[in-house]
Parts: sequence; structure tokens; C-alpha cells
Amino acid sequence: MNEITVFDKTFIPFLDEATIQAKIKELAQQINNEYEGKKPLFLAILNGSFMFAAGLFKNVFIEAEICFIKLASYKGTQSTGHVITSIGLDSNVTNRDIIILEDIVDTGKTLHTFLPQLVNQQPASLKIATLLHKPEATVYPLTIDYCCFSIPNKFVLGYGLDYDGFGRNTKDIYQLKID
Ligand code: 5GP
Repeated sequence: MNEITVFDKTFIPFLDEATIQAKIKELAQQINNEYEGKKPLFLAILNGSFMFAAGLFKNVFIEAEICFIKLASYKGTQSTGHVITSIGLDSNVTNRDIIILEDIVDTGKTLHTFLPQLVNQQPASLKIATLLHKPEATVYPLTIDYCCFSIPNKFVLGYGLDYDGFGRNTKDIYQLKID
């Protein structure tokens, strides 16, 4: 893995493909065991989670559905603290076992704002699965049920995560290089 540059920023290798894939498979296996016979509905939060969702979903071998939802709360390398409402939630959530798929939980604001909308629809259960979590950045505490990697509070990119729209298309994850 080499450094990569996106716009004005340099990113250094952080998590390689094999490490990411191994953790995602482990999580899928755990979900296969815990949700057997339950037909969970995965709600993947776009855009950042699309690679995580694909990596996980192809290793889920129980009956399951997936729906992609768009929310947005981020511009550049700092949270704007502004959350746009969801689009694309066309499945009925009531009485379903819901597993939210996030690329990264940073301040927690996105999910903190979105969860009440789901709870109102009375799912049978509601869990959060995230590829990455920055515990030090927490402003809105959340119960994260499944987390592949807890990481330091530094900006990361790749495997679906962007910097102003670019840099999503890598198999590895990179961290912002601070000079
Ligand atoms: P939160 O609402 O938890 O503060 O932020 C969640 C969203 O912010 C994530 O879904 C992601 O889109 C974006 N985000 C937070 N931290 C990072 C980061 O380090 N890198 C990238 N590329 N996006 C991030």
C-alpha cells in the first residue's frame, strides 16, 4: 500500500483489504448465527456504506433483505453537524428485525437524528453495525451493536468513504497524513 493524494490532502495506508475483509466475514458469520430464522432487513446508509454493505451482504447466508437509504451530514473533513432527512426507505420497518449499516460513526449525530424515525415505526428489533467507529469523537452517545474497527479520531478515506466525493474507490482504508 502506498500513500494516495486526493485534492490537496495526502493519505497514508491504515487498514488493508485482507484485514477489512476478514473482519467483515467475521461479522457476517455472527449475524448468520444470531439472526437465523429471523429474515432481517439491512438498512445501508448511503453513500459511504455501499462497499461495506456489499462485503457484508454477500457473506450473509440466512434469508435477508437490504435497502439503501440516503442521509447526509458531512462535507469535507469536518462534520457540518447538519443532517438531511432520509430518502429511499421503501420497505416496511414495522415488526422487522432491522440492522443499520454505517460506514463510520463519528459524532453519532447522523444516527442519533435518524433512529427516532425508525423507532416510531416499531421495528421488532433495531441494531447498528458499523465498519468504523471513532469513540473519541462521540458527541451523541449510541449503542453500537456491531463494530468492525474502533479507530482514532482522524479523518479516513477509501472503501466507500470519501473526501469531497472522491477517494471512495479503493480496497484499502487510508488515514489523513498530518505533516
Ligand atoms: P456522524 O454523524 O457520526 O458525526 O458522522 C457520520 C458520517 O460522517 C459518516 O457516515 C461519514 O459519511 C462521515 N464521516 C465521519 N467521519 C469521517 C471520516 O473520517 N472520513 C470520511 N470520509 N467520512 C466521515
